Amino acid sequence: MSTKQNVWEMTLERLDSTMSVLDLKPGVIKYLREPRRILEVSLPVKMDSGDIDIFKGYRVQHNTNRGPAKGGIRYHQDVTLDEIKALAMLMTWKCSLVNIPFGGAKGGIIVDPLKISKRELENLTRRYTYELLPFIGPEKDIPAPDVGTNAQIMAWIMDTYSIAKGYMVPGVVTGKPITLGGSQGREEATSRGAVYTLLSALKVLEIDASNLTVTVQGFGNVGSNAAKIMYDLGFKIIALSDVSGAILNRNGIDPYKLSDYMKDSTLAEYPEAEKADPGKFFETKCDIIVPAALENQITAKNAAHIKAKIIAEGANAPTTPDADPILKDNNIFVIPDILCNSGGVTVSYFEWVQGNDAYFWSKRKVNLQLRDIMEKAFYEVYEFSNKRKLGMRSAALALAVARVAEAMKIRGIYP
Ligand code: NAD
Repeated sequence: MSTKQNVWEMTLERLDSTMSVLDLKPGVIKYLREPRRILEVSLPVKMDSGDIDIFKGYRVQHNTNRGPAKGGIRYHQDVTLDEIKALAMLMTWKCSLVNIPFGGAKGGIIVDPLKISKRELENLTRRYTYELLPFIGPEKDIPAPDVGTNAQIMAWIMDTYSIAKGYMVPGVVTGKPITLGGSQGREEATSRGAVYTLLSALKVLEIDASNLTVTVQGFGNVGSNAAKIMYDLGFKIIALSDVSGAILNRNGIDPYKLSDYMKDSTLAEYPEAEKADPGKFFETKCDIIVPAALENQITAKNAAHIKAKIIAEGANAPTTPDADPILKDNNIFVIPDILCNSGGVTVSYFEWVQGNDAYFWSKRKVNLQLRDIMEKAFYEVYEFSNKRKLGMRSAALALAVARVAEAMKIRGIYP
């Protein structure tokens, strides 16, 4: 079984273990385990070579009981249907947890976006959007960026959809460029939200926030922005990693300087830090770890070597279920993915609201509203976890699933 197939099973395993906390009928549980709709498409693209290549794409809508489906689109060579199903389900729980009126979805294309030209990338995106036309829309399913996709790709999706409709429909995607109806603060929203939950965790754990050391795995949208926001708040970023490798400097790394350096080079070559072993990245002694790359990074194999006080899960599903009890035994406080990284979808919701109203907010308003939602969600989960003697992950999942089950119960089953 490949690691990617495990992600779906791991997500179901976690759902099943939470069910004992909730008083739900077996049929409800069966219903919540199944994605509502799965779309698989073959995408022909005329390549620069003159030949045609075919790419495989997916869109999974897991649950729409609380509102239109919502979730990112991933472009990565290792995308599998199981992975997309798992990520779609996590989106349902995430939107429910922060109480925004969306269900969950996810999409993906099996492609390494760095290995095709910009023209090929645009054509692939437009063809994918065309295939998705009957299934997406501001009232149905609203894509957003994820690993390997960005604001430009969202602009192409919005443009293709709008051409098909005959008028501009900014609400069909979020994470758009600001000039096309994107929201202030969306690009760094996932990271900002994660930092708000981290600050709340430091407060309840009574940890002094000065002089804390941080390691961040992944230096893309979530990782680089999280590193910058934490750096601005005075945290010391001592180790970073991405696909090119890992770097360490116990005196601290300036993520802004590193970003500038990476315009012409790779993270691993950064001269103001020493090279580190990516395989032992999580063993680095630090106070806070932010996994912000891919799934299945903290496992039963490396969890026992983690010496941090807090893990703030910027990535989706970075920790495997067999690592959870090890982290718990070692008193490591985990801010689970569906809570920690829900700032992205929260500001996506703000963007959707602004686009539908054609009325745009200031960055200050976006960040204040984001902080309110993140803090409220954090304390709800923390209090529930104390009340029911659950870990933060089980508490978050239980609260989120209960809300979806309640919506489903009230709506009833058609016909
Ligand atoms: P991205 O493509 O911008 O960045 C991914 C980063 O991970 C890159 O720096 C890449 O080099 C690195 N990476 C990939 N494989 C790695 C490995 N084996 N070791 C170390 N680094 C590796 O993607 P992103 O949007 O930052 O997403 C990162 C994670 O956050 C994903 O799990 C994604 O689902 C999750 N997430 C993203 C958002 C969002 O708004 N972008 C929202 C919620 C959750």
